[in-house]
Amino acid sequence: MTTVTLIPGDGIGPEITEAVKAIFAAAQVPITWEEENAGQTTFESMGELIPQSLLASLERNKIALKGPITTPVGKGFKSINVQLRQKYDLYSNVRPAKTTAGVKTRFDNVDLVLFRENTEGLYAGLEIYDERLGIADSISRVTVEGCHKIVRAAFQYAAKQNRSKVTVAHKANILKNAGRLMLEAAAEVSKEFPSVPWEDKIIDNMCMQLVSKPEQFDVIVTTNLFGDILSDLCAGLVGGLGVVSGANIGDDMAIFEAVHGSAPDIAGQGLANPTALLRSALMMLEHMGLHEHASKIEKALEKTLIDKNCCTRDLGGTASTSEFAQHIISNL
Ligand code: NAD
Repeated sequence: MTTVTLIPGDGIGPEITEAVKAIFAAAQVPITWEEENAGQTTFESMGELIPQSLLASLERNKIALKGPITTPVGKGFKSINVQLRQKYDLYSNVRPAKTTAGVKTRFDNVDLVLFRENTEGLYAGLEIYDERLGIADSISRVTVEGCHKIVRAAFQYAAKQNRSKVTVAHKANILKNAGRLMLEAAAEVSKEFPSVPWEDKIIDNMCMQLVSKPEQFDVIVTTNLFGDILSDLCAGLVGGLGVVSGANIGDDMAIFEAVHGSAPDIAGQGLANPTALLRSALMMLEHMGLHEHASKIEKALEKTLIDKNCCTRDLGGTASTSEFAQHIISNL
């Protein structure tokens, strides 16, 4: 049995983590959950936004499954998600987006994996507001080392998984330095992977190409903010935020979480689709080498998604979060 830290999170987080726990228990996945939370509700009950006990659990287990955590907009504390990614140098945010049978979308042949740099760029936290002048500066810090690490992660993945090419998305025509570092990193790192073709695309063109002909792309690598936006765009191509998974991976620790947020508009109503968090949990099992358990649950999920009646509202069904989980369990 391996111990995994479980962070239920806010909003729909507790509902979808319960669903994943039930499915994992039914599939007899050999892991034990160590539950710790973070965020506003934890601050209210424990007086800390990120409790020491959570940090201790992460440092002990080195692996976690995390529900979404609410971040106040335009004020308040710095995102807990960003803080954890930076504290533990989880520099690779890996977000696959693949068409699934049964999930109706405009395209039927999307199979993308996005590598988003996860600790730098406009998320570096370098923000200054001069109230007297009414000027806000947000500094995008991009480092040579950071670019090399994320680009290498993307090329390594492409080579290992026999993917057809890597596309570097950037804005080096305007952000001459930050964009250039990413391109230079790709030119240098690509020499280590001669079997992997690569190209670059300016981010605005990249968005247009993705929504018109997504099948021309495979592995995409980009900086933090562009990756955040592109990954929601890619989610829209394959069925929405309810179905796409993600992972924050460093050299020493990995935290798996869905791309979506805490969805306050549907929280507590049993409407949330647990697929995104479940798929993130399956990425975690693959990372842990538990391939058979991952594949067994993935097959049950795919079978469930084909029957609309078994699905949640975002996929055109009427099942609640827990009913959807029960359907997956019966398909195991
Ligand atoms: P969101 O992803 O929470 O929701 C966007 C839309 O998608 C909503 O209409 C929501 O109902 C829907 N949706 C999201 N997940 C779904 C699911 N599993 N099933 C069905 N529908 C789903 O984005 P938002 O509303 O912009 O953000 C809400 C909060 O989440 C904010 O505080 C934001 O900072 C936070 N957030 C956290 C993370 C994270 O923890 N990693 C990521 C993104 C946003």
